[in-house]
Amino acid sequence: MRKPLVAGNWKMHGSRQAAKTLLESIKQGAVGISDIDIAVFPSFVHLQQAQELLAKTSITWGAQNLYVGESGAFTGEVSGPMLVDYGCQYVLIGHSERRHVFKEDLALVAAKLKSACDVKLKPVLCLGETLEQRKSDQTEQIIAEQLESAIDTVGIKSLQNMVLAYEPVWAIGTGLTATPEQAQAVHSYIRKLLAKQEVALANTMRILYGGSVKADNAAGLFAMPDIDGALVGGASLEAKSFLGICEAAVKEFKEGLLS
Ligand code: PEP
Repeated sequence: MRKPLVAGNWKMHGSRQAAKTLLESIKQGAVGISDIDIAVFPSFVHLQQAQELLAKTSITWGAQNLYVGESGAFTGEVSGPMLVDYGCQYVLIGHSERRHVFKEDLALVAAKLKSACDVKLKPVLCLGETLEQRKSDQTEQIIAEQLESAIDTVGIKSLQNMVLAYEPVWAIGTGLTATPEQAQAVHSYIRKLLAKQEVALANTMRILYGGSVKADNAAGLFAMPDIDGALVGGASLEAKSFLGICEAAVKEFKEGLLS
């Protein structure tokens, strides 16, 4: 059985004090939660606080982005080794805001993925279609292109160290969540794509759902057989709602063990 992961993407939010309060509240609230993995993705400037406050807890942290390579004349960018220095285990790659707002194409996303793998950061590779693409029945084609571009660059074996996140662009930050059935259909398609290359990997790969997940809609999503947790944006900025999502994941996981 795959261990669920609930990850909070804080995006470009929060002061130093707000990040401290949120980290402390999540740390307190997560005491005793051991059936699932929990990770937070603060902004770069709050990673040091995450490292200080979350060391010696089971909560891990990661960055929301990195740039290609180890170092160089890339003003304003942050490299994989710099993130490792701050104790990051994970890094988000290919988030829809990076693909669409910052126009990161398949080649750049794949190069970033490779840079993360090179320094043993675990990428959370985000995949997802826009509303227009869904309406024109292109969802599977887009997901396949995004996944295959990644596999072609880093090789199928590297995916063992990754997490995938299906995040329909139309559901991110909009309050429009995919129904559990819509999300399950895409998760199951992703798993089938993986299985064509390596069945064992397909069975063990954690595939998170992201897109307006809240404490009150999480259980329905987590009940789906191919949804292994969530990448949470807005609802991760408040400890109570983020922990509510974590608790929903714990409950589903325990019920899954019993069934
Ligand atoms: C995200 O940023 O990855 C996300 C899913 O955001 P939200 O939960 O706010 O839709």
